[in-house]
Parts: sequence; C-alpha cells; structure tokens
Amino acid sequence: MTGSMSNRFRVGILGATGVVGQRFIQLLESHPQFEVSALAASDRSQGKTYAEACTWRLPGEMPERVKPIVVQPPAPPLDCDLVFSSLPGDMAKDAEEDFARAGCPVISNSLPHRMAADVPLLIPEVNPDHIALIDTQRAARGYDRGFIVTNPNCSAIVVVMALAPLHAKFGVASCVVTTMQALSGAGYPGVASLDATDNVIPFIGGEEEKIEAETLKLLGRLGEGMIEDAKMLVSAQCNRVNVTDGHMAAIRVKLAEKASLDQVREALASFTSVPQEMKLHSAPARPIILRDEVDRPQPRLDRDAGNGMSVSVGRIAPDKVLDYRFIALGHNTIRGAAGAAILNAELLVARGYLGQNRLR
Ligand code: NAP
Repeated sequence: MTGSMSNRFRVGILGATGVVGQRFIQLLESHPQFEVSALAASDRSQGKTYAEACTWRLPGEMPERVKPIVVQPPAPPLDCDLVFSSLPGDMAKDAEEDFARAGCPVISNSLPHRMAADVPLLIPEVNPDHIALIDTQRAARGYDRGFIVTNPNCSAIVVVMALAPLHAKFGVASCVVTTMQALSGAGYPGVASLDATDNVIPFIGGEEEKIEAETLKLLGRLGEGMIEDAKMLVSAQCNRVNVTDGHMAAIRVKLAEKASLDQVREALASFTSVPQEMKLHSAPARPIILRDEVDRPQPRLDRDAGNGMSVSVGRIAPDKVLDYRFIALGHNTIRGAAGAAILNAELLVARGYLGQNRLR
C-alpha cells in the first residue's frame, strides 16, 4: 500500500490483528492526518493479507483498504512514517526501541517504556508539556528522528482524567481507587468464558501497581529534563467484571485545599485543555461529562460518550472517610488505548515532532 498521493502521514500498526490493533484500524479509517500503510503481528499472521490473518471482531466491516496489506514482522524498516504499537508487553520493549533507533517514531500503548524517566507518559488534556521529554530521550539515547511516546494503562487514564481538574484546582492529597474492568482489557480471547460468567475476578496482574505508579508520573511536574512525581498517596484495587468494553472506577479523594461540592462539580464539568483549544481531530468537546442521574455512569450507556474519548463522571458526593467520592467510566480500547495513542499523535503533529519524519 505505497504510493499514496495524499498528504497524510503513513502509519504502521504493530499488533494490528489484536483488540487494540483493530480499534486503531477502525479509528484511522477516515482520519484526516494519518493513513494505514503497514501492518505487523506475530508469525502466525505474517505473510498473509490482513483479511486472511485477522478475524474482525468490531461492529461494521473490516475497512477495504487494509484488507490486501500483507502482515509483516514487527521490525524496522516498515513502509511508514511512524508506528502505533499495541504489541504484548514482553516483546514491545525491544521492538519499539528498534523502531526508534531506526528513525521511526513509536506511539505506544504497551507497558515496558511507560515509566522510563526519559519517555513521555502522555494524556494530552493532562500533561501536554511532558512531550518535552522527547528532547531528553533523543539526547540520552542517541535517537535521531525516532522517539518513543506512551499512553497510560487503560484504567489509569480514566482515573487520571477525573483527578486532573481536581488536582489542578485543589490538590489531591490522597486517592483510593477500586476498578471494575471490562473483559476486552485482557485482549482476545482474554478471560475464559467459564471464569468470566456469573463472576467477578479480584485480580488483574500488575494492574494495581500500574495505576498507583502511572498516576504519580502523569500528574507530576516537568522539571529539568525529568518528571517530579506528584506528591500524593494512591491506593488501587482492581477487579475484572463481566462487561465487554468500558472500565469503571470508584474513586475517593482527600483534597489538599478545602472545596465545596459545587466547586468540585464545577472543576470537573468545566474541564477543557490543550486538545480542545487546538481542536485536535480526536479531542472530545468535553473531556469529562458529568452525569446527574443517580445510577450513571454505566458501561453500556456511557462508554461511547464523545466517540469513546470522554470520561463520564457521576455519583459525586461528600465522603465520610476522605473528602469526596465519585464514579468515573471510560472506553478502555478507545480512550484507554487506540484513541489515546491517536490523540497523542495529533498533539505530536501540532507541536512539530512528526513533521520531519515523513519518508516522502
Ligand atoms: P491482543 O488482542 O492479544 O493482541 C495482541 C497483538 O499482538 C496481536 O496482533 C498479535 O498478533 C500480536 N502479537 C502477539 N504476539 C506477538 C509476537 N510474538 N510478535 C509479534 N506480534 C505479536 O492484545 P490487545 O488487547 O490488543 O493488547 C495489545 C497491547 O496493548 C498490550 O500490550 C496491552 O497491554 C495493551 N493495552 C491493551 C488495552 C485493552 O483494553 N485491550 C488497553 C491499553 C493497552 P497475532 O494475531 O498474529 O497473534
């Protein structure tokens, strides 16, 4: 799929046949800035066309233009200007570094580089200035045109989107989070149906540690080429529940400064940031949607809010142990994964970090 005459960046997708990879393809189908030109997956899929290799599991048809693309190994060079990575964690580390070293920017969903001191862990609404770590990374690692940028864990992103406006206005001193996470968060085929049905599983490997650590980096301050973690306490417990898409989090916060219930509601409801100001293509008009109904948000009803890019918050109330409590919900494969990475890429374009990477 070479030789396109459009001005769009040509993108490769690593892990293109998986749950997140398919979301990338769906969300990029008519994207004004990016077009899919290369696809990579495991040796099970390599050498086949995407149509042969991939069982399409999203509503609607597999986009026509990706069907004939031959799936390749996730190694450079691929015929593209940048790659989106949704590789499994164990193999993402080396593969993503190989692409960055070869001059190809990597915009990753995967775990291994998120907490590296010189890698931006980015939510464009929350910490767009952390993008400056790219310069530190290039200098430290000797990368020329390449770099690695990551988006957070799919629950951390929902939690931090809701905490960010409160932290900016009042300071969050401590936060207790209990998640209820969808089955699609485990990839395909994910959790066995006999484990998931009629059940809640109170364990998701590594998830509690990811939420606790990533929250501090995301809400941290950019210092001299490094991030100073936010000074707050975070405690997370994670559960897998029998829901297809949409991660929910019950959150309790203690604020550093006193705030009334109305001030808390207003801080959440009025939150907008750089992506909205810059009118980035995937930015939802309202990053946080406040629900006033007593029984919202709910995964089935609210996960697609803002085309899956808004986080819905409801049940806001004073808390007898900490200061306030509320429920936050977001779409784990859109705001929590593919949509998050695409929004990161749109910010990178707007900030001039991708312009010099065109192959043509
Ligand atoms: P998945 O459905 O299991 O898909 C995995 C993808 O990686 C498939 O395309 C698979 O290709 C490919 N792959 C597997 N082993 C490989 C290998 N040895 N070499 C090359 N490619 C290989 O998983 P997923 O849910 O999409 O998750 C992908 C990544 O995104 C993970 O790191 C995950 O932690 C992260 N993530 C997922 C979510 C979510 O909600 N699901 C959210 C945020 C982040 P084949 O089809 O050829 O096997």
